[in-house]
Amino acid sequence: MLIPQWIIEKKRDGLALSREEIRDFIHGYNRGDIPDYQMAALAMAVFLRDMTFEETAWLTEAMMDTGEKLDTSSIDAPVCDKHSTGGIGDKVSLILGPLAAACGVAVPMISGRGLGITGGTLDKLESIPGYRTDLSETEMIQVVRDVGCCIVGQTARLAPADKKLYALRDVTGTVPSIPLITASIMCKKMSEGLDALVLDVKVGRGAFMKDLDRARELARAMVRVGERMHTPVAALLTRMDAPLGRCVGNALEVRESVDMLRGQTEGPLWEVTRELTAAMLTLTQRAPDPDAAREQVDEALRSCRALEVFRKMVTAQGGDPAVCDHPRDLLPAASRIEEVRAERDGVVTDVDADAVGRAVLVLGGGRTRSEDEIDPAVGVSDLVRTGETISKGEPLYRLHMNDAGRAAEARKLMDTAITLGHTASSPAPIVIERMFPS
Ligand code: URA
Repeated sequence: MLIPQWIIEKKRDGLALSREEIRDFIHGYNRGDIPDYQMAALAMAVFLRDMTFEETAWLTEAMMDTGEKLDTSSIDAPVCDKHSTGGIGDKVSLILGPLAAACGVAVPMISGRGLGITGGTLDKLESIPGYRTDLSETEMIQVVRDVGCCIVGQTARLAPADKKLYALRDVTGTVPSIPLITASIMCKKMSEGLDALVLDVKVGRGAFMKDLDRARELARAMVRVGERMHTPVAALLTRMDAPLGRCVGNALEVRESVDMLRGQTEGPLWEVTRELTAAMLTLTQRAPDPDAAREQVDEALRSCRALEVFRKMVTAQGGDPAVCDHPRDLLPAASRIEEVRAERDGVVTDVDADAVGRAVLVLGGGRTRSEDEIDPAVGVSDLVRTGETISKGEPLYRLHMNDAGRAAEARKLMDTAITLGHTASSPAPIVIERMFPS
């Protein structure tokens, strides 16, 4: 018989739980038989005492089994998704989904909303007039069959225990635990009926994982859980010290994504997107090796086939496809744009992702509580990049705002975000490490 407090006590005392104990506890919590306070106590015990790999895999399996698995059997292509642990300006999914689909991979992407300073893919896409993220599973499969990819929100039927547990962890100080994060991410992704999964594990100031060792540990746990579930999983560890790309803010990031799909491929945003998409092609054996995969990705972009997939996906999900041609006219725009210029000559030695994320949050572009409304139009655009040389009077960034009262605080944060130095040094590589299944 399940006695929840015995399981909590066992973990509190640093002992390993059995598969049955984990399964019974998670299913009991999901049914409502185990109350939040006992689940919170177990989550804290796991946070403090950790879990073995076996326990982490069993936790993932138990959480996954609280829901259904997406039936992707009617999709006539290898099914692969990408998941990012989240960062500032991370709009990779919007570009990668269509790119991978244009290279013959089916991408049924289930994404999340932003919370705190990290933005959410769904919030970004919802700035496209009409775009629906609440597709049913049947609609979702149909869009993937017709178009090659879709980007939608979590459905209640896939891994419901995670939704409940994540909300509880969020308010009980138990989010940054490697077994809990691994199980949370992997139970959702393994419910998508995938043939392969690519993970973007962010490391740095603007990420969950601030140091490389912890990020590596998280990546390794997720790759191993994938292996245990017979699904090849690759992980790229990528730097998240500076924002990814030149825009941060929902509609502004859609605009930047469309620009990239139209051929403006420069800088770390393209590098990360290209590497992750190429990993999807090698993992699903659409390409024989990484170099061939990169060439296919480049060709899908150059030929505008990826842009066409994006256009079709937007149309299929109810959005206005004309955003692909006129993003500046059709996406929500802020009532005021202020250009901030350099007060002296210099070299950009740092752009602090955390400070930029906070500035956008202050402007109304993010949430502090999950029920908050966001303003899709606000944010920062045309942001300088580390390593760039700037002359006095040249723009450092543009601030897009709707509420002048919030602008002063955002300006203050942006003042701390950009550091101008005197000597140039080459920026650190954006992809730090690659982990492929053994
Ligand atoms: N993202 C998730 O989905 N779950 C976590 O626990 C952390 C990040």
